[in-house]
This record gives sequence, C-alpha cells and structure tokens, in this order.
Amino acid sequence: MNQLLEGRVAVITGGAQGIGLSIARTYVEHGARVVLGDLDAASARASASDLGGDEVAIGVRCDVTSADEVQTLIDAAISTFGSLDVFVNNAGITRDATMRTMTEDDFDLVVDVHLKGTWNGTRLAAAHMRQHGSGAVVNISSLSGKVGMVGQTNYSAAKAGIIGLTKAAAKEMAHHGVRVNAIQPGLIRSAMTEAMPQKAWDAKMAEIPMQRVGEVGEVANVALFYASDLSSYMTGTVAEVTGGRFM
Ligand code: NDP
Repeated sequence: MNQLLEGRVAVITGGAQGIGLSIARTYVEHGARVVLGDLDAASARASASDLGGDEVAIGVRCDVTSADEVQTLIDAAISTFGSLDVFVNNAGITRDATMRTMTEDDFDLVVDVHLKGTWNGTRLAAAHMRQHGSGAVVNISSLSGKVGMVGQTNYSAAKAGIIGLTKAAAKEMAHHGVRVNAIQPGLIRSAMTEAMPQKAWDAKMAEIPMQRVGEVGEVANVALFYASDLSSYMTGTVAEVTGGRFM
C-alpha cells in the first residue's frame, strides 16, 4: 500500500495505549511522525520508543482538560517534527453508574475529558492548521453517543456532544482547508472494555450483527482514512465502526 501520510506530523491524545496507540502505529506505518500525548508521561514515552524512537515518535505528558497542556503538545509537534498536519482527539475515560448513584464529580470529569478535551484539541490544532491552509482533525466519539447506554449519562452526553462539536468546527474550518470528522466505535477490545463485567460483555456481543468484537486496528484504519487525502472531500462526517451494531 502507498504511504498515505508520508511527511505528515500527527498528534494523538491518549496515545500511550489502546485505540490511540494503534492509530499512532498505523500512521507511522504510513510514513507519518507522531506525538503521543497522555496523562501518563512514562507510558507515552515507552510507547513512542516502541514505535521506533525519536526519529518517528515522541511521548509527551498532556492532560487534555488543560488548554495549556494541549498547546504544549502542539508546540512539541512543531518544534520536534516541524509541522502539525493531523490531530486525533482520542483521550478518554469512563465512570459508569446509573443516575441514581453517579456523582456530580464523575459527571463533570467525563464531560471535561471527552468534550472539553476535544474542544481544546480541535480549536488549538485548527488555529495552527488554518494558517497553513490544510489539516485534518479526527475526533473519537462512541456508539454510546448515538444511542445512549445505561449507566453512561455522562459518557453518552459527552460523546454525542463531540458530534455536534465536530460538525460546527467542520463548518467553521472548511474554507481554511481544515477537515474535521468523527468516528463512532462500537465494542472494541481494549483496556477500557476488558474491565467490563462478563454479563455486560455478553449482552453487547448479542447486539452485533457481525457477531464479533472489533479490534483497535479496525478503528485505526478508519482514522487513517480520515487523516489522509483519501477523504479529501469529506468533512463533518461520522463513521460508525461497529460491526453493524445499532446501524
Ligand atoms: P484506553 O483506556 O485503553 O485508553 C485511553 C487513553 O486515554 C489512556 O492512555 C489514558 O491514560 C488516556 N487519558 C485518559 N484521560 C486523559 C486525559 N485527561 N488527558 C490525556 N489522556 C488521557 O481506552 P480506549 O483505547 O478503549 O479508548 C480510546 C477512545 O476510544 C476513548 O475516547 C474512548 O471513549 C473511545 N471508545 C472506545 C471504545 C472501546 O470499545 N474501547 C468504544 C467507543 C469509543 P491513562 O491510562 O494514563 O489514564
């Protein structure tokens, strides 16, 4: 396959593990250099080293709820690799509980990390990209934001909010050559989902027409499509990577 991201520089938040790391690996395989931003600096650096070390990847501590730290991440990409062409808002957490037991802190934290974090990443990346007349922002939403899931009033709200944010930002940035798109993964095998009780896992599996869990690489391939010129006439769109669940 061609090197779809040859010469491009990508930042991936929450890039130390899971879906974010898989996106980073796929981007590197397609010629990009990447910056992994993560809460856990040591883990981000270790993952960057696994991807090939300083020539192709660096790890930087970043809490996406802090605009200053997101700006530092972007500055690191530009000072180390010379540009910023792709920004993936992937960092995420869950704090599941029904409304009867969910604390206000857990509502606020989840909305902050996903929605404020994605807003920080999108607006700060776009501010740089518009000066160069090109760029791609890829926002990781969730099927939970499309259909709503029990125990996820915080997460579903934040992930649905990311879709509205994506479309509004896409409209604001289209004439600057910056595209903004979103991905809604379904059940994907990662640390986040492997922590789920077996009963919840089985119930989700029963809803999937393709009758299997998705792998992180299958989300990464769609993130590659949105980052590359293959999707040059697409902005404000939402790709469902779900095995047909809740289509
Ligand atoms: P993981 O928990 O494996 O990875 C999430 C990463 O985000 C971790 O490295 C975590 O760091 C980091 N992170 C958490 N909070 C912050 C923060 N404030 N600032 C920076 N980084 C942070 O999850 P997944 O790979 O499964 O999920 C990635 C994205 O995909 C998330 O947005 C998630 O909501 C979404 N998603 C996942 C699905 C799935 O089935 N797995 C389905 C649908 C959507 P640390 O470990 O140090 O806390």
